[in-house]
Amino acid sequence: MFTQSTSHANGTASTNAANEMHAASLLRRAVRRNFSVEATRYGGVLIRWEARGFGPMDGQITRFPRSITLSPLCPVRALSDTQLRDLDVINSYGTRFVPGTGRIEADLFHVPPATTARLLCSVLVVVDPSVGRARLSLPARLALHARDHQTSTAQPRGWYHPADGPRSFARSAGLNKPGRRSGLMHDRSSSVSCACGGLFAFAEDREDARRQACAHRQEATRDLLASPGFFDDFITP
Ligand SMILES: [Zn+2]
Repeated sequence: MFTQSTSHANGTASTNAANEMHAASLLRRAVRRNFSVEATRYGGVLIRWEARGFGPMDGQITRFPRSITLSPLCPVRALSDTQLRDLDVINSYGTRFVPGTGRIEADLFHVPPATTARLLCSVLVVVDPSVGRARLSLPARLALHARDHQTSTAQPRGWYHPADGPRSFARSAGLNKPGRRSGLMHDRSSSVSCACGGLFAFAEDREDARRQACAHRQEATRDLLASPGFFDDFITP
């Protein structure tokens, strides 16, 4: 289950509960309409788009930002290496819950009963009661994805002495003004990288780096949601 927070065109907001299927339907529609989507490490997702409407003047079109935030009722907390391994196997192979043993099992793999109980209790894993299949919940899928795409930006160097800079900058005499910064140079450039290894770039400043990081996370989330069969587990025909 999720808490769905919606910002409306008139500036108001509303909150309601959304089950996994409803949340998945929203996400599928968001991807089809090319809205921005970004998974959070707690297993939620932020959907943003720009709506258009008529303004106060005749023929005037105004644009206003809209958003839907889906937050899981059981947020995904920090995961141990063992949990990550178990979740990875459950996500990759056909696993089933065996009530007799209390274990999640695959051909050459099983999750012990106590660990299985914790995974089910924290709603990281859910079981399809009709066939006993164990699979990752939507929050778990989103949280693991966000974890794979944790971005970081570098603190700009700020004021520095030219003699401490790279060789090409060492020829400068620095700022020619009286005061504490006389003879210093300023470097506001930053860089951005992602844990997935798919992003490393230089940026004009920290704000530019944050923009690039956000764009990368949104693109990665979109790729995940648009991947073939992603919604098959969550939306029953
Ligand atoms: Zn990434």
